[in-house]
Amino acid sequence: MISAALTLACTAALAQNPLLQRTYGTPYDIPPFEKLTVEDYREGMLKGMEQHDAEIQAIIDCKDEPTFENVIAALDRSGELLDRASIWSTLNSSNSTPELQAFAREMSPLLSAHSSAISMNKALFDKIKYVYDRRNESGLDEEQIRRTERTYRSYVNGGALLGEAQKKRLAEINLELSGLQLQFRQNLLHDTNNSYVIVRSLKEMEGLPQANIDRAAALAERIGEKGAWAFNMQRSSCNPVLQYCRNRDLRRRVYLMYNDRCNHGDEYDNKDISRQIVALRLEKARLLGYKNFAELQLADRMASDAASVYGLLDQIWEPAVAKAKEELADIKAMMKKDRVRGEPMPWDYMYYLDKARKAKFDIDEDLISEYLEINNVQKGIFYVANRLHGLSFIERTPDYPVYEPTARSWDVIDAQGNVIAIYYNDYFPREGKGAGAWNTTFRSQKYEGPRRVQPIVVNVCSMTPATDDKPALQNTDNVTTMFHEFGHAMHSFLRNVRYSGGVERDFVELPSQINEHWAFEPQVLKVYARHYQTGEVIPQELIDRIEASGKYGQGFATVEYLAASYVDMDLHVLETVPGDLDVMKFQAEKLAARGIPSQILPRYSVTNFSHSMGGGYSAGYYSYIWAEVLDCDAFQAFVETGDIFNPEVARRFRECILVPGGIRPGAQMYRDFRGRDPQVDGLLINRGLK
Ligand SMILES: [Zn+2]
Repeated sequence: MISAALTLACTAALAQNPLLQRTYGTPYDIPPFEKLTVEDYREGMLKGMEQHDAEIQAIIDCKDEPTFENVIAALDRSGELLDRASIWSTLNSSNSTPELQAFAREMSPLLSAHSSAISMNKALFDKIKYVYDRRNESGLDEEQIRRTERTYRSYVNGGALLGEAQKKRLAEINLELSGLQLQFRQNLLHDTNNSYVIVRSLKEMEGLPQANIDRAAALAERIGEKGAWAFNMQRSSCNPVLQYCRNRDLRRRVYLMYNDRCNHGDEYDNKDISRQIVALRLEKARLLGYKNFAELQLADRMASDAASVYGLLDQIWEPAVAKAKEELADIKAMMKKDRVRGEPMPWDYMYYLDKARKAKFDIDEDLISEYLEINNVQKGIFYVANRLHGLSFIERTPDYPVYEPTARSWDVIDAQGNVIAIYYNDYFPREGKGAGAWNTTFRSQKYEGPRRVQPIVVNVCSMTPATDDKPALQNTDNVTTMFHEFGHAMHSFLRNVRYSGGVERDFVELPSQINEHWAFEPQVLKVYARHYQTGEVIPQELIDRIEASGKYGQGFATVEYLAASYVDMDLHVLETVPGDLDVMKFQAEKLAARGIPSQILPRYSVTNFSHSMGGGYSAGYYSYIWAEVLDCDAFQAFVETGDIFNPEVARRFRECILVPGGIRPGAQMYRDFRGRDPQVDGLLINRGLK
């Protein structure tokens, strides 16, 4: 009796977990975020892994001759519940809580073991190989062949061809790596949100806009320093200090704290964690038959080897350093005028470049930002999407579920009137949100039978929020970021493929970065850049000055970026990793050898270089500039016609680049669009380096 009652109770509990229902019963089956608890996630993940294992077993047990359909496509469809339950991991970046973080630590080893077991399953791999070996003779189409090849390669790179002892070691490495990378990111989140520079007198913040001072006061109060002002290491908090504060010592304190995150020898230090990550990645690459980790990573990239990555970085490095030296001369002159003694230091350049830019181009950022109210910018973004791709947007806030009350939702509708995606934006900083901005999905586009399932896409940013007396006015960098993330979002909206598999890592920034090109085009600014009080359209002469000033400071910005890209590559082409490798020393030595100006540090130091050490962009940070070569060259295709909205070029861009997802190699998609390979000149001109 008792056990029957218990079973009944358990069934009731199960029935309440929305993750385990066939549908959520919400519009477009959007996850009911506010109803989901960590308990639900745990149950969903455990059941999801169990179900995934059973689905894999069914593929293996199938008695029919292995085919694309009963092996590759079946594998592609498997793990649906696990996917569904995994939205917590997306939320852990944008809306983290100590409870979710603990849950992430709990799940990390289980997931790692789960995916290792599948990727090393011999019986499964034998079937994949059977289909792979016959892929060109079995009547498969282009997408199916590519899916088969990528599946095969990912299993080979997952260890499928290894002997038992090696497989065991690889599983251990993967487990350790996922734990270390998670630890790295959590330490970074800690230092970003919990390292403070406290200021006790208003005078010390001379030059800082009032809105930033107000936010610093609010932050101070929140951390028990009422009456003082506090800055944490979120870019939105500390960057304005570096840019606007006259007080050199305050800039120094903030700069060093930001640059030195996770390099304090305390429990959140990432130096040794980074060394272990690099060593394990190398060991993994060696096990799999690669010379180094970069070679393994580049196997599925547009830049197929390290030499082509270095080749590109080197082409840009010289002109960038030369430009930075010119800018440095301006900085020195301004420091002299300010009677500041000594050489410029890394915490001087944002401040003085900003001043120099304003002096040269007579730019008043505050005045410009009065034309860049966030809702107006959003209208401009939608306008560009409409002109280029015929998309329109119907707002659904507050009807659709949200995980955060300030997030907003829209239906994305194509030219034929179909809802092709759901779009969310979550634009404002808060505790528990990681630094930076990103695009992600709660559900990727997929097919269920003949039906295309709409993706649920979200842009997460930390934009300047409204204050008591002003709406959310943005600077030009923030506007660029919004266009950027929305470019990723459009890539997600328009994708229309039958099987999973994204584009290559160094291709993925093309759709986002090209979208930035429209942000400050006069035709576009006229649509959205209206004064928040008067509604007046931004004056043409202000537009001209924004345009001219945009290239200023690109020497520093490019060197800072390239420096981080080099370090990321340098660490991952190592063929031995000494047990006492000090990653910070390594970074300094490598950059000094390349002749980096002493006033510039890499955009991220290794200990806070989440792209490289945390996962996603390892041996891949170069991707941004690789893609920039593509986006500058691709934007020229519009410019060359004399119409930045040329419908024919837009159609080609959509059909060759955005819609096909990863069904073709990036190099081929680019050639389909442009009729030739990309050229680097557009980038050099665009950055004012040539
Ligand atoms: Zn991006």
